[in-house]
Amino acid sequence: MQLRKSNSNTNSLPIRPSQVRTALNRDKQGFVSLVGAGPGDPELLTLKALKAIQSADVILHDHLVTKAIIQNAKPGTNIIEVGKSYNNPSATQEGINTMLVSMAQRGLRICRLKGGDPFVFGRGSEEAIALEQQQIPFEVVPGLTAALGCCAYSGIPLTHRGVSRGFTAVTARGNNEQYQINWESLVKLNHTLVFYMGLHCAAWIASSLMLHGMSKDTPIAIISHGTQPQHHQLSTTLIELENCLLKNTPTAPSLIVVGETVDLANQIKWHSNHQQTEHLFEHSLEGAI
Ligand code: SAH
Repeated sequence: MQLRKSNSNTNSLPIRPSQVRTALNRDKQGFVSLVGAGPGDPELLTLKALKAIQSADVILHDHLVTKAIIQNAKPGTNIIEVGKSYNNPSATQEGINTMLVSMAQRGLRICRLKGGDPFVFGRGSEEAIALEQQQIPFEVVPGLTAALGCCAYSGIPLTHRGVSRGFTAVTARGNNEQYQINWESLVKLNHTLVFYMGLHCAAWIASSLMLHGMSKDTPIAIISHGTQPQHHQLSTTLIELENCLLKNTPTAPSLIVVGETVDLANQIKWHSNHQQTEHLFEHSLEGAI
């Protein structure tokens, strides 16, 4: 966990939890906003999310939330990173719940900022239940979940008439005796499949789908750092994925998308074209100045 004070510069020095004193007022009712920050591009923030960030005394954010978004905090806001990532559980969920409750009981306005949407693989619901149980007033501000942002920027429609009549989001994390992915049902759906938290087992996802009847030529994409300046997409087929991963190493966060709609990205290249146009535009402006 990292704690620092904002001077609108997220690189400021860490401070101790005991220093969280901003707007402390025992008579004042605390309030928690469980906010979805979207997939990374700060322009994809909702107005409500921006308002919650700008009015917070304390921001508790996940590692998925980009600096560009946190920089919207007003000077003096206490900014605490409570990021959990694969193989790096730096704060327990129980610890985060306790922090939210105790800060709110001290009259603070808290923005609990999460990547994407708080209720999509975000444990926002667990925090909401903890707050409800302690009668802490709170709101939930939805955000653009990674599947929507990543696919839109990659030119992959999640549904397309005559190609895919639906999409299904699945977590690849925690596949164990209690939770097992029902591969057979997933394959039968004929949906665009979106796997969250699956980068570490991408080859296993591809082979499990083939083992349960999906065509080996089905397109698959791994979208990394979706909607962010480093947005990157790796596209191949299920059978080719393992080979492809020997030559390419996508980095987290990455989303895995499987289905025929992945190929439509060849016809919907708006994002790379847009980046080129922006670059040319900036270039011609520089020349004009
Ligand atoms: N609440 C988030 C999901 C949290 S789970 C949401 O609604 O998007 C974390 C997983 O989300 C990552 O492992 C990755 O699979 C996916 N993810 C989140 N942001 C992403 C991004 N910008 N690009 C690619 N994948 C992303």
